[in-house]
Amino acid sequence: MQKIILLVTSLAVQMGTMLAQAPTQQANTRFEQLGPKLPTPNTFRTASGAPGKDYYQNRADYDIKATLDDTKQRLTGSETITYHNTSSDALPYLWIQLDQNVFRPDATGNTATTNSLNPERASLAQLNPDAALIGKDYGYKITAVRDQAGKAIKYTINETMMRIDLPQPVLPGKSVAFSIDWNFHIVDATSTHARSGYEFFPKDGNYIYEMAQWFPRMCAYDDVNGWQNKQFLGQGEFTLIFGNYKVAITAPNDHVVGATGELQNPGQVLTATQQKRWNEAKGKGDKPGENPVVIVTQAEAEAAEKGKPTGTKTWVYKAENVRDFAFSSSRKFIWDALQPSVEGKRVWAMSLYPKEANPLWGQYSTRLVAHTLRSYSKRTFGYPYPVAYSVHGPVGGMEYPMMCFNGARPEADGTYSQGTKNFLILVVIHEVGHNFFPMIVNSDERQWSWMDEGLNSFLEGLACLEWDANFPARGIEPQSIVPYMQMDSSKQVPIMSSSDNIPRNTFGPNAYSKPATALNILRETVMGRELFDYAFKEYARRWAFKSPEPADFFRTMEDASGVDLDWFWKGWFYGVQPVDQSLVKVNWFQAGSQNPDISKVEARAAAQKKMNTISKQRDALSKDETVVAQDSTMKDFYNSYDPYAVTEGDRQQYQAYLNSLSAEEKLLTEAGTNFYTLSLKNKGGIPMPVIVRMEFEDGTDSVARFPAEIWRFNDVSINKVIATNKKVKQWTLDPFYEIADINTEDNSFPPVAQPTRFQLFKQQQRGGQGQNPMQQQKQQPAPARQGSGKN
Ligand SMILES: [Zn+2]
Repeated sequence: MQKIILLVTSLAVQMGTMLAQAPTQQANTRFEQLGPKLPTPNTFRTASGAPGKDYYQNRADYDIKATLDDTKQRLTGSETITYHNTSSDALPYLWIQLDQNVFRPDATGNTATTNSLNPERASLAQLNPDAALIGKDYGYKITAVRDQAGKAIKYTINETMMRIDLPQPVLPGKSVAFSIDWNFHIVDATSTHARSGYEFFPKDGNYIYEMAQWFPRMCAYDDVNGWQNKQFLGQGEFTLIFGNYKVAITAPNDHVVGATGELQNPGQVLTATQQKRWNEAKGKGDKPGENPVVIVTQAEAEAAEKGKPTGTKTWVYKAENVRDFAFSSSRKFIWDALQPSVEGKRVWAMSLYPKEANPLWGQYSTRLVAHTLRSYSKRTFGYPYPVAYSVHGPVGGMEYPMMCFNGARPEADGTYSQGTKNFLILVVIHEVGHNFFPMIVNSDERQWSWMDEGLNSFLEGLACLEWDANFPARGIEPQSIVPYMQMDSSKQVPIMSSSDNIPRNTFGPNAYSKPATALNILRETVMGRELFDYAFKEYARRWAFKSPEPADFFRTMEDASGVDLDWFWKGWFYGVQPVDQSLVKVNWFQAGSQNPDISKVEARAAAQKKMNTISKQRDALSKDETVVAQDSTMKDFYNSYDPYAVTEGDRQQYQAYLNSLSAEEKLLTEAGTNFYTLSLKNKGGIPMPVIVRMEFEDGTDSVARFPAEIWRFNDVSINKVIATNKKVKQWTLDPFYEIADINTEDNSFPPVAQPTRFQLFKQQQRGGQGQNPMQQQKQQPAPARQGSGKN
């Protein structure tokens, strides 16, 4: 640190002129409004981010009868869709989604994938990524499309989309009803890595079915896209509309079924014992230690595994105001339930899982469901549905209204790694959390993955920390996104990219953790918790049971908080640059004393220090005398003159100076205030708040925070003066790792060397290779590894 003594009377004025910054071209671009990047507000969607007076959404009600064939893994169904056109447009045709067709080898989602071959490590999967689909005859067989009178309606199938040509257009404000008959082979979810399907358990010969995207569903028609009929390629998820469902599922009579909605006929499908246990679970789950009531026990599920069905049972469900419908069915299912109070309303929190999921699932799943509903409701709106299921089967993690599929399976011996346990906590919270985004705040998933995954991952992170403060909630920690932000930006796409155009290898950080982290940074560093929480809740309330677009989110967050965030959306959502601040140097200024009895002593000491050169030191040891030393006639006044001696004239001049100062100026010069000028660089691109910790000589410290607008005239290089009475010995930028700075090595002044650690000794061979710590604790020989789902 350089100390510069400032001998001036008007410090403030002097500092001001010193630090004027030349503007940079980019700074203006970064802090101007998003403007044309956002769609023009209109009467459907207002400039404030709220739905406008003409906002509309079409609806579809479904009446479905489906039969599950457990011997052929086939689903056969017949559905009547009543479509309500609330738009002001006449619709001559309707678009329907045929998601099962994505499993046909000739679907664009399969033919448009790219791959390369590594001859040294070529695997079968690499050679033939569609191997799981070959010879399977997956995809819909549409056997009939009829109107209400039973007359055939013309239709055209375009891969995963089907157009129904109505005899007459459905007019604004009118409805049309039609029915579709269909069947398909259920996919093997394990080999296809699908979001739904079956898992076969070779040990006992039974199946678990997790069924979703299982019936032809209406496409959305709205003010933004017209028909949203982008093909389902496998990555971009679903764009759906709300409606009421009545669904009858016929399954083998030894199966336990669960589904979106409320069971309508428990008397017909549940035993007296099961109904009694169900009643016992009512109202339970509010107090710590209140564990789920088991409706189907593990012993009962294991007995069912060994038996055979004697017929079928039909489970009837109703669900109101949902955008989709899922169900699960198996004779392997254990079933447990709680009915906690969520924002004053009782909700069934339930889990379905096979014995392979225990003991982990019995202990945690349903408790996690209840926790998630409470945590998310607090931050958005009260969970409006009567039920929420967590189901274990082949799918690693996937969400539907009131039902989600979660992986995290223990080892065959019932032990599990900490990773498996943490994954269970995370995945159940995440997938149950999706009930809020996008099941209720119904964003367009086919187009914008971040709108549900990003927002949901953010709330998931908060809910994980409310579950256990020590939980490694990496999805929202700014430090955790650093490796992605360090990536070559040419290999990244902005968060604001269409889902199917996000490279698969960066889909996780792009759609989940980068937006989640960005929201966490907004909450903790840019807006503060109070403003953020209010605005986020307002967004959730405005758009519950409606379909928001990105601009509606961006605008609402600003509208409800009064914080201009356009620069933030530009940097984090529209850009690929990282954050990298650098503290180049710190200059130290101190109001110098003009008291000659102090200043001259200091000046003498400084001069003497500079005189002590190596040559002078060696000359002093020499026996040779200088001319002046040998000959005193070569001396005059200046050989004895001391420029640092204080004269009476000096003292009088100082007194005159003191008399000229105002009281305020006198205080400033006497206080000994330190003025530090920090030279900061924005090396990464995204302008972010500057947070700097000062460690003082006396051992105390303090943190100064400056908003991102500090970069608005110059987004590359700025100076900032910090005044403090104490002397600073160490400066550190971003001391709490809150802005995702990709290089923290240049964040200290004076620079602090950071060692690169190398391995001195060969890493000790870890005992019990392949065993989880629970198994090692038991000191038992490791059992053969079993397939543990896809986690
Ligand atoms: Zn998700």
